[in-house]
Amino acid sequence: MIRELVNDEELLSTPCEPATAEDAELAQDLLDTLASIEDGACLAANQIGVAKAVIAYKDDKERAHVMFNPGMKRALRPYRTEEGCLTREGATKVTRYDQATFTYQELVDGVLIPRKKECRGWTAEILQHMIDHCKGKLI
Ligand SMILES: [Zn+2]
Repeated sequence: MIRELVNDEELLSTPCEPATAEDAELAQDLLDTLASIEDGACLAANQIGVAKAVIAYKDDKERAHVMFNPGMKRALRPYRTEEGCLTREGATKVTRYDQATFTYQELVDGVLIPRKKECRGWTAEILQHMIDHCKGKLI
């Protein structure tokens, strides 16, 4: 189901609760909502009003993916950049890493399975933006 984007700063600055296998519908709502946004690259659950650590993003081939409880490990080559956000006006200066290993869970047949993925460049950057959303950081 497509949901409305939320830009309530209080909700967006609350750290998200861990997501569970019960959040399958929320993950689908994220995919539906992301698909409905022109040029939307990524979306965190709190941006559609649910403070759970689930995110959706499109890779550089425009394929959409969901991550439950994403985290970052082994980040390399920091750089400074400016990022915009779907639920905040203006751009914010941030430090990002050009390459990183991301840990997350994937929902397979109703069970959360731990996964790891190495990402670079654009995908690494949007995932870092998403992890910040899960922590309640406003970017
Ligand atoms: Zn954002």
